[in-house]
Amino acid sequence: MDGAVSDVAKRQDRSPVPSSFDYAPAPEARDLVRLEPRYGLFVGGEWVEPRSGEYETSVSPATEEPLAEFASANAEDVDVAVKTARDAFENGWSDLAPGERAKYLYRIARLLQERSREFAVLESLDGGKPIKESRDVDLPLAAAHFFYYAGWADKLEYAFPNRNPRPLGVAAQVIPWNFPLLMLSWKIAPALATGNTVVLKPAETTPLSALLFCDVLRQAGLPPGVVNIVTGDGRAGAALVKHPDVDKVAFTGSTEVGKEIQRAIAGSGKKLTLELGGKAANVIFDDAALDQAVEGVINGIYFNQGHVCCAGSRLLVQESIQEQLIAKLKRRMGTLRVGDPLDKNTDVGAINSREQLEKIRELVASGEEEGAEIYQPPCRLPEKGWFFPPTVFTSVAQSYRIAQEEIFGPVLSVLTFRTPDEAVEKANNTAYGLSAGVWTEKGSRILSMAQRLRAGVVWANTFNRFDPASPFGGYKESGFGREGGLHGLEPYVRFDE
Ligand code: NDP
Repeated sequence: MDGAVSDVAKRQDRSPVPSSFDYAPAPEARDLVRLEPRYGLFVGGEWVEPRSGEYETSVSPATEEPLAEFASANAEDVDVAVKTARDAFENGWSDLAPGERAKYLYRIARLLQERSREFAVLESLDGGKPIKESRDVDLPLAAAHFFYYAGWADKLEYAFPNRNPRPLGVAAQVIPWNFPLLMLSWKIAPALATGNTVVLKPAETTPLSALLFCDVLRQAGLPPGVVNIVTGDGRAGAALVKHPDVDKVAFTGSTEVGKEIQRAIAGSGKKLTLELGGKAANVIFDDAALDQAVEGVINGIYFNQGHVCCAGSRLLVQESIQEQLIAKLKRRMGTLRVGDPLDKNTDVGAINSREQLEKIRELVASGEEEGAEIYQPPCRLPEKGWFFPPTVFTSVAQSYRIAQEEIFGPVLSVLTFRTPDEAVEKANNTAYGLSAGVWTEKGSRILSMAQRLRAGVVWANTFNRFDPASPFGGYKESGFGREGGLHGLEPYVRFDE
């Protein structure tokens, strides 16, 4: 018997199975993307030099290396782009047979699919998000959005029966840096499907996928001037939304800038949709499938480094399961791989900019000062670039800044509740109202919670799931108007009733 045991022990000693399962690097090929050293503005289907004469540099947040220069538009540049879009609207695009418009949208969708690997690499390079997210989420969803609205383009009479929907004219669209290409798709696809033309301004830190998208527009043969891309900083965005010849403004970004835009265009008659910040509650009841819920919590807050307006940044857990759930959560956090966004194993990539990293650090410091307990799993951050470890705060009071303010980073605040009423009250105790999550095995509880939570989207036993057919948007300081689905057409049409 003794001999048998020692044989087993010996075999184990010689076993080729390693004692730890560290992943070998699996970098995606960076040379799939060929960048120009410098980009102008895309106006009237051409690259034009900015009248401002100014350029900025987009850098990789993971390495801080410069990637390419892009034009910094001023008010005069914006004016030219809006005039070009107006011209394209009046001379062809708005009168085009809807079925013809649909063909362009289908072409764009198919081209995005064909070139998805190239776009995914660029999105991760310029924005810092893990390649597996760009590849499996951003790109498929961006293409799906164009496919979806291509389908609506010639069916508007069915979307709005007996109301004679007509396009508005020129849409001014300003997008943020967390999902650059996906937000571009959310904006451009419904605008074109309804017969409008577009001037879009991408965010200053992530302009490159929008600039590569101009190549897709050319490949698709989209008539010149129907989509114009003006890069630049917040001043270009402000000039665009305030331009008197714009009929519709669509903005995604911070609540602060959203309010500024609303004030700036009040009384102008421009249609406005605002998709702003969030502080979503992810509510876990004691009858939930806990392992599944932990995956949902991880996905809810660490997906895209927490740079997600609908991130589940407040975890509300029923008191009786708090200890068990937090232990599982911490164990799972320990398996998250933080690092090179272009590595296919990476779960948490780079923080989008130095400014955003500073903001996260400042809010995390406030959490510690106010008395919350911090946990960060041991992990080695890359020396270069902007990174922040996955973080969870327990013992959080509702008044703490980390429970109230949008951190927009990989930082979770945990609060507890005892009854469903308390959960609803705490979940709704926020200035925002963009999304929420409910974890329970009871269907009736899901329905009652979904009705009582003041949030535009309520996920049940899942989180951060998107579909172009499903409308998305907020209440309160999270903005108004819906993007996606049939609802997403309405902000782009007027009715000749
Ligand atoms: P902003 O709201 O400033 O940026 C969003 C977009 O608006 C960018 O394209 C920006 O240009 C542009 N912009 C800036 N100022 C104006 C203006 N006055 N008029 C018109 N357009 C303008 O967000 P930040 O990038 O500064 O991020 C700040 C915070 O906002 C984050 O920490 C996060 O909390 C939140 N945020 C929320 C998002 C969401 O989806 N809910 C998305 C992004 C940020 P430029 O990039 O050149 O400044």
